[in-house]
Amino acid sequence: MIGRFASVAAFIRSERPDVPVHLLRPRQVRAAARSFVEGFPGDVLYAVKCNAHPLVLETLHGQGIRHFDVASPMEIRRVAETLPGATAFYHHPAKSPAQIELARDYGIRHFAVDCIAELDKVAGLVPDAIPMVRLAIPPGNGAVYDLSTKFGAPPDRFRAVLEHAHALGLSAGITFHVGSQCLDPQAFRSAIRLATSLLDETGLPVRLMDIGGGFPAYYRLTEAPPLAAYFAAIAEAGREWAAPRGIRLMCEPGRALAAEGGSLLTRIVLTKAEAIHINDGIFGGLTEVYWGKEALSLPYRVVDEDGRPRRGRARPVAVYGPTCDGNDRLPYPLAVPEDAGDGDYIEFNLIGAYGREMAARYNGMVSDAMATIDSDFDDE
Ligand SMILES: *Cc1c(COP(=O)(O)O)cnc(C)c1O
Repeated sequence: MIGRFASVAAFIRSERPDVPVHLLRPRQVRAAARSFVEGFPGDVLYAVKCNAHPLVLETLHGQGIRHFDVASPMEIRRVAETLPGATAFYHHPAKSPAQIELARDYGIRHFAVDCIAELDKVAGLVPDAIPMVRLAIPPGNGAVYDLSTKFGAPPDRFRAVLEHAHALGLSAGITFHVGSQCLDPQAFRSAIRLATSLLDETGLPVRLMDIGGGFPAYYRLTEAPPLAAYFAAIAEAGREWAAPRGIRLMCEPGRALAAEGGSLLTRIVLTKAEAIHINDGIFGGLTEVYWGKEALSLPYRVVDEDGRPRRGRARPVAVYGPTCDGNDRLPYPLAVPEDAGDGDYIEFNLIGAYGREMAARYNGMVSDAMATIDSDFDDE
C-alpha cells in the first residue's frame, strides 16, 4: 500500500506513478455494504473472488457483513486470517478431497454441490456438512454473464441431489446464481419461484436459500434499475414462496459490493494520431472489459501530470495495453481530449470488483501497487 491520499490529484502530484495503480475507496465500499445490510431481506455474504484484498474484507465486516463466499484454499485462508470469527461458505461445486479437508479444518460447514458424486465426497469427509445444492438457472434473464453453463444442476438432478442429501441424514440448503450483472430484478423472483417449486416436488424441508450474486454496478451505458428495486422484488418473492416454507434467504453479491470501491489509474505511454498506448490492458487490471465489452463500459477521466482534468475536445482513439500481444486492445475506442498526451493519466472507475484479481503477469507486466483515496470518483 503506497499510502492514503485525499484525492487522486493529490496522489498524482505526490507520487507521479509510472506503473498502473489500483485505488481503493473504502468509503464507497462502506456505503455499498450498508445498502445491502439495511436493504436485503436476509443475510448478506460477500463473494470474495471479486476482490480479496484484506482492506475490502475488513471494511465490509465493519459494516456488519459476517459471511463470506469462498472458492479456493487461498480465499479460505484470507478470510480466516483477516477476519477470525467470520463464517465462510465453500461455494465451489467441484472440489478435491484435499480442498474439502482443508475447508473442514478451517471450520467450514456449508459446501456447494451440484451432483451426487460431489455430495458423496463432501459427506464422506465432513460428517456435519450442510450441502448447498446448486440449481442451474435457465439463460435469457438479462445478465451479462451466464453462471449456469458450468455449474448448477438441471431440475431432475437438483431434486435427486436434495433427496440424496436427505437420505444421508444431512440438512441441505439451496443456492443458485442468476448470472453476473443481471439487469432484471424479476430474474431473482423467477429463480426463487423455480427453486421452491422444485423443492415442493421432493416434499423435503429446506431452511436456507442463497440467491447468489448478480446485482449490478452502474457502468457507463448500463440501464439497470436501482438496488432498491431488486430488494423489493426479492422481498416480495420471499414473502410469497420462501417464508411460508420456513426458508431463510441469503445473497452473495460480489460486483455490487466492491465495484465502486476501486478504480485503476493508468498512464499514457505513447500518443499516436488514431491510438494511444497505456500502461495497463486486457491482460492486467482491465481484463474484465475484454469479456464484458460495451456491457461493462467503464467510466473514465483523463488528467494531466498534475492531476488536472484535460478539457480539450474529445476525439475517439483505439486504446492499446502494454503487452506485445496484438489482442491487448480495449474492445471499444475511448473519447480522449485532444490536448491529452504522453505522461497523462486515465483513471477507470468500477474496477473494485474483478480488477486486480483477474490480472495475469504476461510480459512481466503486472502491478500490485495500491493506494487509498478519500474522495469519490465523481467529485474530482
Ligand atoms: C462470482 C460469484 C458470485 C458473485 O457474483 P456477482 O455477480 O459479482 O455478484 C457469487 N456467487 C458465486 C457462486 C459466484 O461464482
